[in-house]
Amino acid sequence: MMRKNFGRISLLGAGLLTSFLGYSSYAASGGNSSSTTVVIDAGHGGYDRGGIPGQRVSEKDMTLDVARRLKSVLAASGYRVVMTRDSDVFVPLGTRTAIANSNRNAIFVSVHFNSATRGGASGIETYFYSRDSLALASAIHHYVVGGAPSGSRGVRRRGYYVLRKTSIPAVLVECGFLTNPTEAGYAQNASYRQKLAEEIAAGVRSRGSVASSFTTTRVATDETIPLQPYMDQTRVTKSKKSRSKRSAKKSSRRKKKTSSKPAEIEARVASSDREG
Ligand SMILES: [Zn+2]
Repeated sequence: MMRKNFGRISLLGAGLLTSFLGYSSYAASGGNSSSTTVVIDAGHGGYDRGGIPGQRVSEKDMTLDVARRLKSVLAASGYRVVMTRDSDVFVPLGTRTAIANSNRNAIFVSVHFNSATRGGASGIETYFYSRDSLALASAIHHYVVGGAPSGSRGVRRRGYYVLRKTSIPAVLVECGFLTNPTEAGYAQNASYRQKLAEEIAAGVRSRGSVASSFTTTRVATDETIPLQPYMDQTRVTKSKKSRSKRSAKKSSRRKKKTSSKPAEIEARVASSDREG
């Protein structure tokens, strides 16, 4: 995904984060049972490689490898694990969420890697949509950032399809930029992918105690950033190239502007953003 709205995210104080978490019935109820099912969603697959045109490291392969490692780590901890895909196949987003929603007492973790036309873009970001998903997002983000040499781009709220259409706590984690030479180098290292899996699993295990532990986590809520539209990956594949060029031009223009009217931001994001 490509965005330029990073600078618009506000830092929230510990108190505000804690009170926001108070809305989460999931966090309040604990939810640390090892009988929980974890639905692991390896982003992209098949003809959908993920990332941007011309990207050297294929996102779909990295997500599948991390997802498989995550499955092993969680299964060893006693979790029941369901994979939305376990091979290099295309699975429609609707199928992914249907799998998630067919499991009771489950949580959903979608694994992705990021991309940007600017090679310098870097860092980890974690997305959630429903308030019941914030504790899980904060916990996973905390551990992945803690275990990775990459920086934090924050916990963010956005209406990605797999987050909006899931009725269980759902998180999408972007494990660094494959378009950044340094982070692409990390991602191509098997022991680093294992580390990512272990940190995501640590976040899953500790999600119930997130409110007291993650006071420095940066959170973008619907009050600090407009809710952003998603694009179905099945609709953008063919026109990706022209869209990407257009948005790159807009990005350079965008830097000179200071206006940040919500409608304008939404329009910009709609033109440049893709699903995961
Ligand atoms: Zn992706």
